[in-house]
Amino acid sequence: MELDGNALAGDLREVFAFDVTGAVFTCAGCGHAGAVATLRVWEPAPGLVGRCPECQDVVLRLVRTPDRVFLCLTGTTRLELPL
Ligand SMILES: [Zn+2]
Repeated sequence: MELDGNALAGDLREVFAFDVTGAVFTCAGCGHAGAVATLRVWEPAPGLVGRCPECQDVVLRLVRTPDRVFLCLTGTTRLELPL
């Protein structure tokens, strides 16, 4: 099932102390910059996989276990966080 980046809001709110969907990612694959909310999100993968809306490369992966959240950001060269 494909969703948009807003599907990441609840899980990322536990990792970051604010809503990250407004943060701007820069895709490592194509250089596209856009709000996390614009990512194309796929589940279950066993977690959430956010793909670039321009090139479809994986920008981030988020996997929850009962006591941990694993966040992989290797598909983004930069994440700009609003203050
Ligand atoms: Zn891209």
